[in-house]
Amino acid sequence: DDVSQRLIDQYTELARLAGALAHEIKNPLSTIRLNLELLAEDFANSDNPRERRALNRIQIVQRECERLQTILDDFLKFTRADRLNLEPANLNEEIRRALQFFAAQAREANIRIMDFLASNLPTVLLDRAAFQTALQNLLINALQAMPKGGELVVRTVPSPEGVVIDLIDNGCGMDPETLAHAFDAFFTTKRGGTGLGLPTARRIIEAHGGCITAQSEIGRGTQMTIKLPIPRQLPGETVASDERASESPR
Ligand code: ADP
Ligand code: MG
Repeated sequence: DDVSQRLIDQYTELARLAGALAHEIKNPLSTIRLNLELLAEDFANSDNPRERRALNRIQIVQRECERLQTILDDFLKFTRADRLNLEPANLNEEIRRALQFFAAQAREANIRIMDFLASNLPTVLLDRAAFQTALQNLLINALQAMPKGGELVVRTVPSPEGVVIDLIDNGCGMDPETLAHAFDAFFTTKRGGTGLGLPTARRIIEAHGGCITAQSEIGRGTQMTIKLPIPRQLPGETVASDERASESPR
């Protein structure tokens, strides 16, 4: 109705403004970072105690600028998460690609990856780049939850309602309070975290018409479950239904 439409419009406008604001901050921030870099070089090899103190302060400001940059980049990814370019894709192939990117990091962190990818998955519609972002966000969280190493199971299962993807880690897990807020924007329990990984992943998956849920137990691990819909008809798949569509204009 009218009221809810107005609310949706206002929300959309606010979201657009937030994205634009983040974008506007990027240019001055990169000028600031560049000049700090030059300033730091000026003081770099000084023995003068005053200049050494100045360099220390410059480096603190540099670190904070980097933090701002990370927050902005993550926030822009979050605001753009629902702009998709869907095309037919092989889900297992995309998962293997994400795991390949992740393999070196996982090895270094002593994480064993076990994949159980169903061979009979139907074709799904994906924005492949966005889907990679969503998977990477989940994989990085799993890695960070297993600082002493561990096991990560990645599984795909076809079902009548869609394709299910499970990522199961045996890391630190979450208490119920953390689990309840894990998908909130800017919620983080990590030093240096932005709290935008899960909300971005959720927006991406929901923009695909799917959903993402988490189960977790403190000290035991976390299971992330993604469900993606099976398209009723792939673009250009059958001539018959195309004809039907053009014969019955509504
Ligand atoms: P960030 O990683 O920057 O903290 P996220 O949105 O990716 O932000 O995650 C939010 C919070 O959810 C994390 O800070 C952490 O407390 C919790 N979390 C997410 N994934 C896991 C996981 N696999 N195991 C344990 N905790 C997790
Ligand atoms: Mg994260």
